Amino acid sequence: MKILVINAGSSSIKYQLYDMPGGQVLARGILEKIGDKLSRLTHRRGLETSTREEAVADHKAAMQQILEILVDPQVGAIEELAEIATVGHRVVHGGEEFTGSVIVDDRVLASIEKFVELAPMHNPHNLVGIRAARDKLPHAVQVACFDTAFHATLPEVAYRYALPFELYERYHIRRYGFHGTSHRYVARRAATLMAMDKYRLNAITCHLGNGCSMAAVRHGRSVDTSMGFTPLEGLVMGTRTGDFDPAILFYLADKGYDLTALNSLCNKKSGLLGISGASNDMRTLEQLAREGNVRAGLAVEIFCYRVRKYIGAYMTLLNPPHAIVFTGGIGENSSLVRRQVCQDLDHMGIRLDPQGNEMGRGREGIISAADSVVRLLVIPTNEEEAIATDAYELSVEAGASERAKGHRDGT
Ligand code: AMP
Repeated sequence: MKILVINAGSSSIKYQLYDMPGGQVLARGILEKIGDKLSRLTHRRGLETSTREEAVADHKAAMQQILEILVDPQVGAIEELAEIATVGHRVVHGGEEFTGSVIVDDRVLASIEKFVELAPMHNPHNLVGIRAARDKLPHAVQVACFDTAFHATLPEVAYRYALPFELYERYHIRRYGFHGTSHRYVARRAATLMAMDKYRLNAITCHLGNGCSMAAVRHGRSVDTSMGFTPLEGLVMGTRTGDFDPAILFYLADKGYDLTALNSLCNKKSGLLGISGASNDMRTLEQLAREGNVRAGLAVEIFCYRVRKYIGAYMTLLNPPHAIVFTGGIGENSSLVRRQVCQDLDHMGIRLDPQGNEMGRGREGIISAADSVVRLLVIPTNEEEAIATDAYELSVEAGASERAKGHRDGT
């Protein structure tokens, strides 16, 4: 069964075409700068890469371009669009309603629309992607996979804020958590690597990329996570503050900062970029720190210090976890960050193997010392594969392949 995975952002659409259940990637790509004078489509099939540059007015036109290249006789991966049985969409916010992936119908669309209020930067683009795919592939089943869904199992004690009780009832203000597809993927993969049942595994999963979050996973289910009502809370990120005293906002408002300025300050100008004044990119900061840039070094230190604090907090919940998993661009590739995070944690049963930690980029493996009580793992995340798997399972249930066959046969 051919499954197209779509991740629609504000000005780009990423896609991967899978052949399921084997999980083979037939093609992948990204269409960037949608709405600009010149948009750019980078398409990969196996080792071949092709690029196209032309004006693409909106997401609907972008979807059209992507579908055209997928059936292109030279660089495409399928003969006709009817072969695509299912489209799996990444959707950022599923509110309290979606505790797992679902087949999209009008009711689901209306709910995603309702949650635009909670994720104004993401859900509108996800919606446009779903509508464009529905329009262009009316025969295909559309599946929505929510970033929030894996955290639907958080207990009330973890998801409630100490705000007046009625704010939860009236505005649904609570911790939702994000990156759920990634946390779930690496937790499941960790269980497989450790030959454990996925519902027995206790783990701390650290998704460290440009956006960063951690999750405490008990018996395979998320019981706490560092991101909150929005992705702003928790760890230090590329440009986001993570945890800080909200009274700073009142103080700055008093100094003349308006809502837009405060939003931009917290989401776009803080984090690694704000501390270093140089970059939001960990690779650049590590290089600058090696060259003696003190603020770059401090940014890396503060980043690691915050991860350590969350490890400490989640150790108390999991007592002890079977594993700590590192993923995301930084977690997968920065041996320096992993070393700084894990140093001097022997008293918690956490011991890094210095040699193992230097494993090559993008590799999966164990990086803890043989006598470490807690297994330390690096697992490259693969949210697209997780979405394709969910989409496949839901489609099989819905008999999607039969419907697609009927469509191809004209029956
Ligand atoms: P992501 O958002 O998951 O793509 O992760 C992006 C982050 O990963 C950026 O801060 C990159 O600098 C960082 N990153 C990627 N490769 C490396 C590397 N080899 N060493 C350190 N950081 C890296």
